[in-house]
Amino acid sequence: MRKKIVAGNWKMNLLWDEALGLAQGVSEASTKVNNAELIVFPPFIFAPTIISKNPELNVGLQNFYPADKGAFTGEVSITQAKNIGAKYVLIGHSERRAIFNENEAFLKEKVNAALANDLTPVFCCGEPLEIREANEELNYVKQQLMDSLFHLSADDMAKCIVAYEPVWAIGTGKTASVEQAESMHKSIRSWIAEHYSKELSEEISILYGGSCNASNAKELFACENVDGGLIGGAALQLDAFISIAQSF
Ligand code: PEP
Repeated sequence: MRKKIVAGNWKMNLLWDEALGLAQGVSEASTKVNNAELIVFPPFIFAPTIISKNPELNVGLQNFYPADKGAFTGEVSITQAKNIGAKYVLIGHSERRAIFNENEAFLKEKVNAALANDLTPVFCCGEPLEIREANEELNYVKQQLMDSLFHLSADDMAKCIVAYEPVWAIGTGKTASVEQAESMHKSIRSWIAEHYSKELSEEISILYGGSCNASNAKELFACENVDGGLIGGAALQLDAFISIAQSF
């Protein structure tokens, strides 16, 4: 059985009290959500306090620098992420790719650094609108996986989570249809089977992200190859996030 996961990417939102309150709320509510694992990705600055105040909560970091230490002013190292008790890291989010110019080679380094430090990569992939309009989305997403993820050994690949996030659906209120989501998730699973094995492809959780909310989560999560969601905007409201988590 693949793990069902609902993860909240808080991005650069919330202030101290709001972030701590939301984390506590998710932590308390997670006892009511028994068929899915919940993860939160708060801004760096709140993560150590959230982790120490909510020992049961799964906390990840939205970003890190793939080196142990050194002269990288303003960055947080992967060893520091591990040191504060983070368990997951987002890698390849479209905002990091587009705004911070993180390219395929750098994302590959991040994947390697995360795994070397026992952090679980949540590897994000997804096509921009013009690629979808040109019907090139399958080739595009396959290439993203080939470039930054499929170099891994089967043992390391088994530790990863994949998140399909069509760029045109992120923060736009425009969700992929059930058919679009299922078709891409099924393809991702088939590429994992091609590169590794059918068994491995059946074990890896593939999350959907892009304007997923309490109203559309049920139909998306009902798809055979959708194992949960990576949630942005709707993860900032406790009720909506928990309702999404209860949508399986
Ligand atoms: C995201 O940024 O990962 C995301 C899915 O955002 P939203 O849910 O707001 O579209």
